[in-house]
Amino acid sequence: MTTLNGKTALVTGSVQGIGLEIARALAGAGARVAVHGLATEAVAREACAAMRAAGAPEARFFGHDLSDPVAAGDLVRDVEQWQPLDILVNNAGIQQTAALAAMPLEAFQKILAINLTSAFATMQAAMPGMAARGYGRVINIASVHGLVASVQKAPYVASKFGLIGLSRVAALEYAAAGSKESGGVTVNCLCPGWTETAIIEPQIAARAAALGGDRAAGVADLLSEKQPSRRTSDPAEIGALALWLCDRIAHNVTGTAIPIDGGWTAQ
Ligand code: NAD
Repeated sequence: MTTLNGKTALVTGSVQGIGLEIARALAGAGARVAVHGLATEAVAREACAAMRAAGAPEARFFGHDLSDPVAAGDLVRDVEQWQPLDILVNNAGIQQTAALAAMPLEAFQKILAINLTSAFATMQAAMPGMAARGYGRVINIASVHGLVASVQKAPYVASKFGLIGLSRVAALEYAAAGSKESGGVTVNCLCPGWTETAIIEPQIAARAAALGGDRAAGVADLLSEKQPSRRTSDPAEIGALALWLCDRIAHNVTGTAIPIDGGWTAQ
């Protein structure tokens, strides 16, 4: 069983959805958790309590707005005022759909800032310390849309392809840090397909509306188009894989982009 006793993890966007379940999985293995996201005080408090209930010795909330890359670097520096950072999960992300010709430039820039530039800034701030200590894990939540494209998602697809490229460069630059015993410093992307969280609700709602308002029919229609398993993923399943990547046994798994997509990108 993976043990993260004594380790500290920052999961961006961990007040809900995939980030919350990744943070819960790391907490369950004994990691101290820096919870992060845009959230009310009550939601932040609840997320920190969930971490302690799962097994985290400590949990603290950080509310930096990642549309500002300077704030993203500050987020890591502020966490490190508390504890040296061992595990960084860049999970926060946004989505907006429209045809390329209709996509506002501001939307493109905002999606790139949150989904990609903030990860550059957090990695730049966190990775030298990881290398010095011989153990570090960066897990970037990309998407199937970092591996293949879909219509109406130009900024999102651009950001996720960019995130995979950024991760590969970092994986190479830090590949020789640490040792088998210390666990090394690795950088990987997870690439989910349809996973039931708030981010896909507008797309489910649009499909459901086109099919007479039935949500289940909307989900089934989305799945039938792209995801051969015809099953959505649960956020906790992404958390389980993230936890495995944090184990020392995964010291040589670096520079990968792992699909969790029911066969979407196998087609
Ligand atoms: P979600 O909307 O539930 O969560 C997004 C998180 O990002 C929230 O916690 C929010 O607080 C945070 N966030 C958004 N804007 C922010 C900002 N400006 N500053 C700081 N934090 C901000 O969605 P989710 O599905 O849990 O998404 C998590 C990640 O998974 C995203 O990167 C998304 O692209 C990726 N992903 C999701 C799916 C899916 O089907 N749900 C599929 C592939 C990839």
